[in-house]
Amino acid sequence: MSDATALEAALTGRGYRLTAARRAILAALAGSGGHVTADDLAALVHRRAPRIGRMTVYRTLDLLCDLGLLRPVYQGSGAAHYILMEDGHHHHLVCSRCGRVVEFDECALGELTEAVARRFGFRVEGHLLEFYGRCIDCRE
Ligand SMILES: [Zn+2]
Ligand SMILES: [Zn+2]
Ligand SMILES: [Zn+2]
Repeated sequence: MSDATALEAALTGRGYRLTAARRAILAALAGSGGHVTADDLAALVHRRAPRIGRMTVYRTLDLLCDLGLLRPVYQGSGAAHYILMEDGHHHHLVCSRCGRVVEFDECALGELTEAVARRFGFRVEGHLLEFYGRCIDCRE
C-alpha cells in the first residue's frame, strides 16, 4: 500500500504543480494498492471527482511513467496494468495457472544492478522483478 503524500512529494520535488486533478488521481492511485489499468483508474477518479476527464487521467499516467513512479506491465492480451514503483522497485510471484500475484519486499539485486549498470554504462532507475510458476494451491 502506498499513500498519496509520497507521490505528491515525488511530483512537487521534480517541479510539477499539484493541480486538483493530479491530487485526485494520485489519491485514487494510492488507494488502489498500486495495481490498476488505465480504465480502472479513470473509473476510480470519476467516483471521487466526476469533472476530471479520462484524457487527464491518461496524460497523468504517462507523466508518472516518464518519471519512473509507475511502470506499465502487460499480462496476457488484456490492457496494461500500471504498477506503483515506490522505492524504485517492485517484486512479484505470479502463478501461471490461477493468475494469483504475490507481492514481496525482499530485494537482493543491489550487486547485480551495479554490475550490469557498469558493464553497459546504463543508469538504472528501478526494477520490476517477476518470478512465475505455481502457487501453493496450484502445485501438484
Ligand atoms: Zn495458483
Ligand atoms: Zn505488485
Ligand atoms: Zn528490488
